[in-house]
Amino acid sequence: MTDRIIPPGSTIGILGGGQLGRMTAMAAARLGYRSLVYSPETDSVAGQVAAHVQGDYDDTAALARFAGQVDVITYEFENVPETTVAACEQHKPVRPGVRPIHLAQHRLREKAFFRKAGLGTADYQPIGSEADLAHATALPGILKTTTEGYDGKGQLRVATKSALAPAWQQLGRRECILESLVDFECEISAIVARSLGGETRCFPIGLNDHRDGILRTTTVPSGLPAATLGEAERLGVQLASSLELVGLVALEMFVTRDGRVLANEMAPRPHNSGHWTIDACATSQFEQLVRAICGLPLGAVDLLAPSRMENLIGEEAKDWGRYVADPTARLHLYGKARARPGRKMGHVTYVSAGSVPKA
Ligand code: ADP
Ligand code: MG
Repeated sequence: MTDRIIPPGSTIGILGGGQLGRMTAMAAARLGYRSLVYSPETDSVAGQVAAHVQGDYDDTAALARFAGQVDVITYEFENVPETTVAACEQHKPVRPGVRPIHLAQHRLREKAFFRKAGLGTADYQPIGSEADLAHATALPGILKTTTEGYDGKGQLRVATKSALAPAWQQLGRRECILESLVDFECEISAIVARSLGGETRCFPIGLNDHRDGILRTTTVPSGLPAATLGEAERLGVQLASSLELVGLVALEMFVTRDGRVLANEMAPRPHNSGHWTIDACATSQFEQLVRAICGLPLGAVDLLAPSRMENLIGEEAKDWGRYVADPTARLHLYGKARARPGRKMGHVTYVSAGSVPKA
């Protein structure tokens, strides 16, 4: 086991240059690791805090040079092409590997995998032809493109069967999944780390509030019954084990009004709903990722204090002065030059030994 340990002083390669890579590099640095970020942009926000090489995801020669400079490789978003990860795997271990992104990049594959792994989901069906439209029953529902959707993009609500064809048209008649609309009580997420040795550890379950398909806040503790939290953790751990991944996986779930917990989607990487762990947990999700992929023992996941994370989206980050002046707020800005509507610019975590202020 010890010969598989990648010790502090080693270099972690990160595919992708966004805020998740940035915060991973910051956690890695704290443990004495170097990071090398690989991304197509010349100016990435992860590259502001770590060494950065610019290269396209299909440039196998550049990827080989990158892999030659690092000891282990991870990715910070799941839309890195599978071929990029496979090319890197020729040279160095990539954790969590190709399979988790193969599944997470495609909503139909993902849902089928959930079912196979024993996780309940909303009813769903593929929509890829006129015949599929005619046979659709998962209504009212949400029609989503199978690939490339995020933050609510690439999805439309469909109330009735007659509205389905126009919605499919609006999504460019691309391959889609139709999911029945879940009448949920709330949305939650489990973030689970799995080590090289197969040990799993789940962070306390976060209660997530989305608006317009974008995460607004995560609150921990969630205030949900212990049985619901236990079930959510069980599903998260089952997912991590079924994937046999080494690293982190986040599982977004719905709690239905009759108390069931359904899997919605997964991300095999640090997740926005785990940002609170930086300020309010014994180990942050980013440090946990570093520990897992470097073969270190997983860190403790005790909640240190009640917390609520609020995303700063678009122009909201301009209010940074308000947050730095608030002693209960911990401000994180991602170093993005331009604020666009819907763009995640930073977040604030309110940490309190008592209760956390309401939004
Ligand atoms: P993404 O986060 O990749 O944009 P999601 O599948 O997580 O896509 O959908 C975004 C949000 O839309 C969810 O967090 C939830 O609020 C809502 N949503 C998605 N699917 C359903 C569903 N089947 N029933 C009810 N709400 C849904
Ligand atoms: Mg989601």
